[in-house]
Amino acid sequence: MWVEALDLILQRLQKSKLDFGKIAAVSGSGQQHGSVYWKNGSSKILSSCDPMKPLMEQLFDAFSTKESPVWMDSSTTEQCKAIEKAVGGALELSKITGSRAYERFTGPQIRRIFEKQLDVYRNTERISLVSSFMASLLTGSYACIDHTDGAGMNLMDIKDRSWSKIILEATAPGLEEKLGKLAPAHAVAGLISPYFVDRYHFNKDCLIIQWSGDNPNSLAGLTLNSPGDLAISLGTSDTVFGITNEHKPSLEGHVFPNPVDTNSYMVMLCYKNGSLAREDIRNQCADKSWEVFNKFLQQTQPLNGGKLGFYYKDHEILPPLPVGFHRYVLENFNEESLDEGRECEVKEFDPPSEVRALVEGQLLSMRAHSERFGMPSPPKRIIATGGASANDCILSSIASIFGCNVYTVQRPDSASMGAALRAAHGWLCNKKGNFVPISCMYMDKMETTSLKCKLAATAGDQELVSKYALLMKKRVEIENRLVQKLGRL
Ligand code: ADP
Repeated sequence: MWVEALDLILQRLQKSKLDFGKIAAVSGSGQQHGSVYWKNGSSKILSSCDPMKPLMEQLFDAFSTKESPVWMDSSTTEQCKAIEKAVGGALELSKITGSRAYERFTGPQIRRIFEKQLDVYRNTERISLVSSFMASLLTGSYACIDHTDGAGMNLMDIKDRSWSKIILEATAPGLEEKLGKLAPAHAVAGLISPYFVDRYHFNKDCLIIQWSGDNPNSLAGLTLNSPGDLAISLGTSDTVFGITNEHKPSLEGHVFPNPVDTNSYMVMLCYKNGSLAREDIRNQCADKSWEVFNKFLQQTQPLNGGKLGFYYKDHEILPPLPVGFHRYVLENFNEESLDEGRECEVKEFDPPSEVRALVEGQLLSMRAHSERFGMPSPPKRIIATGGASANDCILSSIASIFGCNVYTVQRPDSASMGAALRAAHGWLCNKKGNFVPISCMYMDKMETTSLKCKLAATAGDQELVSKYALLMKKRVEIENRLVQKLGRL
């Protein structure tokens, strides 16, 4: 399917009369975690494709399994447990690779293939990620896995940016050889293969820059580039990603090398109950209307008089809690000092407080967990995207809670935009003969290009930001107790 997709897209571009000869560099975005298993002997097929024929028919037999594991996988719990145990526990694995073991990560999936389909494993000469697979098709030889997408495998030491021997051993024998080498995301994977030069008239000097995963490419496409930049995607689920100099992996959340820099890190937090919970509370308390929802947000005071809520309509990832709503009121609530105040659990809030408790709760959790991962407080700026970023009241709550300006980008294509930017970045680094910051390409030009973002809410008052910090501390204490009582380990 992925090979056919490349055939199709190039055929369509050809029909649209695109002049392929003008393209200086190509990169791309592949779904994170997915992997492809090249059959023994396939590198020869890959390097000698006939330009008269589509790729799909020539590569039909190049794979040791036709079923690629992808992110929507929950079959590898046993393998996750075994790998964590072998390296000294979940936290230890997270310290090395940036994440504890996850069912969707490639390492546990490879171990499962080794355990359940030994023939497939033995018959595999190279394992590619979706990203490096596509780069391999374009260069006509096996491309490296890039450092950022490589961190979504539970196999790479994110500090050294090399395969971790101990984890490779805990995953499957002979794995290093099958994975090949790693490379920075801005590196040249190779020149475009003669197949594409002959068939589509690409320039033979066109560079293929390492492809990377979809989330890292979104970070690049939103023009996050230096420590303190943070993006909040308010979709069906919420995702937060930012850039930090520090490296503080923990049990929840992920740390990857920054795809547009060689030193810093990309932190990513995933919440399942984003718009899912917002819509539920809107329907229950606000007449199914965003207008009423917003009126309630405007009617109620910041800090909500010490009312804190936890709303999990579905199993939550961060924190790992089951379905359930939990509401608390801080006794003797005093905005200046919360040390004394104990919380008291209550059954319900009035509808306006419920709406504020939900929005503040979601945002305080994002602030607490991103600071725990080393994001500075306040961040330099926040870029908000996703469906709910159309809501100005939610955006001004973000500015009040985080204490920085909030910008919006109404573009549905930040991952592919990021891949295009990274192609140009890789080309530029190659031309200069050393790494140059990606921001050189667009600094001072943002306003006149499609990279433009709009200032949607200005930084909140600093006193309020400090008060929110106290409320956040209290929330974290309650959250930790909930995880101890109800959490999944
Ligand atoms: P996905 O993650 O599925 O791509 P989107 O980023 O398109 O989702 O976001 C869709 C969500 O945006 C919907 O679930 C809806 O609840 C939410 N949404 C749309 N408009 C608003 C609004 N004005 N206020 C809050 N949420 C909104």
